[in-house]
Amino acid sequence: MYLELSLYCIYKQFICWGAPVKKFIHIDMDCFYAAVEMRDNPALANVPMAIGGRSHRGVLSTANYIAREYGVRSAMSNYKAKQLCPQLIIVPGRMQVYKEVSQQIRAIFAKYTDLIEPLSLDEAYLDVTDCDACQGSATLIAQQIRAEIYHQTGLTASAGIAPIKFLAKIASDENKPNGQCVITPSQVDEFIDSLPLKKIPGVGKVTHEKLLACGLVHGKDIKALSLDEMANRFGKFGRVLWRRCQGIDERGVETERVRKSVGVETTFEKDIQDLSQLKSILCDKLIPELTRRSAAYQAEREFTKLGVKVKFYDFTQTTKECQSREIDQDILCTLLEQAVARSGKPVRLIGVQIGLGDAPSNQIQMGLFN
Ligand SMILES: [Mg+2]
Repeated sequence: MYLELSLYCIYKQFICWGAPVKKFIHIDMDCFYAAVEMRDNPALANVPMAIGGRSHRGVLSTANYIAREYGVRSAMSNYKAKQLCPQLIIVPGRMQVYKEVSQQIRAIFAKYTDLIEPLSLDEAYLDVTDCDACQGSATLIAQQIRAEIYHQTGLTASAGIAPIKFLAKIASDENKPNGQCVITPSQVDEFIDSLPLKKIPGVGKVTHEKLLACGLVHGKDIKALSLDEMANRFGKFGRVLWRRCQGIDERGVETERVRKSVGVETTFEKDIQDLSQLKSILCDKLIPELTRRSAAYQAEREFTKLGVKVKFYDFTQTTKECQSREIDQDILCTLLEQAVARSGKPVRLIGVQIGLGDAPSNQIQMGLFN
């Protein structure tokens, strides 16, 4: 009886309703870098301001909402921005601070799901399909995450909630700043019908102009075409667009892969054949840099092997590696010597690499004890 019932449920879920409904949340901080600067320096809070380089030719990375009212946008040159808004204050970015805030935000996400796909420091997709918080309501989970972000960092975030990944991203932009937008499964069709195509991720200026030239403006215009028509006119991306407009986005949240190695390499301005010269570049430049970069992993991961890569002037390349628990200059010099000797040709690039052992199991533990 029970078996029959569960089989029926599975049948119902898959056959009658299609694949089980997913719950995606896209979280996007509001004018992130600028918001951090305004938080830390109240004098900037009520004036048009942006983050940018010092030089005349630099471009802005973020502008606050007051500056945006003047037409100031990210990726705009400092020069043009100043023309639009002469009183604009441009401050240099503090990447280290933004990274720290980003880590705080990610720690909040991790309380709700392991399925996190960061897109940048201030933006991520979450899959909360299996999250039990808030009785499993993705809308309430998003609200709670935004409240927690505000409480912990003093910064606002916007969210989009949808059963389809790309729609969650579009939705997070709908009620910005400090807002959220939900697209329920039953609203998907209607939302896509009236969706301006330029809002679909991947549709840039050039594609958008091509679409307009074909009279394609909204989702429903593409929906009405066949897959072949779209493929013929727009190639591979035409297929993707057609699928998106049918509400098909089979992509899940892609979590960060565990890093297996750390490596550094350098390409020479002129090919080098002299072994002692190669060795001194290895010891003076690459090994210190490798040591610096791998230090971040040393506390948690075991070093397993050392490797050297040599690319010759004709772009053929060879690698040589051996087991090692530490960065050892003598071993690396020997590996370099052996690798170079394999061909004897002038060398255009050398690289060194350290292999990292298994990641610690705290990710699994978090899943068990949360
Ligand atoms: Mg943002």
